[in-house]
Amino acid sequence: MRKLDTRTIVVASHNAGKIREIADLIGPFGFSAKSAAELKFEEPDETGTTFEENAAIKALASAKASGLPALSDDSGLVIDALDGAPGVYTANWAETADGTRDFAMAMQKVETALQEKGATTPEQRTARFVSVLCLAWPDGHTEFFRGEVEGTVAWPPRGTAGFGYDPIFLPEGYETTFGEMSSDEKHGWKPGDPEALSHRARAFKIFVETCLDA
Ligand code: IMP
Repeated sequence: MRKLDTRTIVVASHNAGKIREIADLIGPFGFSAKSAAELKFEEPDETGTTFEENAAIKALASAKASGLPALSDDSGLVIDALDGAPGVYTANWAETADGTRDFAMAMQKVETALQEKGATTPEQRTARFVSVLCLAWPDGHTEFFRGEVEGTVAWPPRGTAGFGYDPIFLPEGYETTFGEMSSDEKHGWKPGDPEALSHRARAFKIFVETCLDA
């Protein structure tokens, strides 16, 4: 495991929701970080078939373009009744004909697919959010950190906080969707906290504990 010995990194993402959450997570560690979006790096094609492959594509592209270590996130919603869909294609389910993303439409697609499977009870609607963070160096070295959070798909969508599919994800043991939670409740984590809730915060906790001399 290679340690990160600099606090200047690139956040290898063009997704505003993720960039905000990663900024919250790295905030307490004194990082100086710019995102790939701010640096106007081209968004690489996510041609992988696993979260790890796509996370590596994004992190390596930013590390090579910047000459700095880069941290990416590849994530998605894995629904059991849909054989793991949308999974690595979670962002694609939101794509519209004009190339923008519409998450109300994407959430409706998920619900329609679940109805087609007759999945109406919480037991039939189990799912997990997965996040794989990849830290890549300009020399091509990569490290991976995976976080998952179990839950169920709720309908109708609830809450306006967060991003993406947050309004339909009800984490196990909670009565509020991610869309109804404050950012601190969803992904707040700092060293010493025994647990993190969101998939991204859980992956980040492993990153800190293994790669960072925090
Ligand atoms: P990708 O990692 O860029 O392929 O995109 C993953 C997609 O999964 C995003 O566009 C989001 O819609 C969704 N996603 C990932 N993490 C979250 C989350 O924390 N809340 C809601 N949606 C998420």
